[in-house]
Amino acid sequence: MSKAAKTQVRECKSCGINVAVDLDELVDDSAKSVSDELYEERLDLCMDCPSLMYGTTCQHSGELVSYRALYKEKACPFPGEPRWLQQS
Ligand code: SF4
Repeated sequence: MSKAAKTQVRECKSCGINVAVDLDELVDDSAKSVSDELYEERLDLCMDCPSLMYGTTCQHSGELVSYRALYKEKACPFPGEPRWLQQS
C-alpha cells in the first residue's frame, strides 16, 4: 500500500466492524513522516514478517503497520533483530 492510497478500510477481527484509517489524519506534520519510497520499503518488510497479524497489525507493538511505518521516529520492534530502523 502506498501513501497515495490515503484511506484503508479493514474489518476488525474481534468484532467484525469495518475500520477506516485515513493516513492524512494520522500524520499531522509532514516533517515527521518518511518519504513514499521508505514507507513502501518498510511496509514490504512488514508484509513478509512472521509477526504480522491479520495482514495489518504488528504483534510486538500492537500498532497498525500502515501507521507505524509512516513515522521517522519509529523503528521495527522485532525482538533482537529489527527489520527496519528509525530514520535520523
Ligand atoms: S515486527 Fe517489524 S517488520 Fe514485523 S510487523 Fe512488526 S514492525 Fe513490521
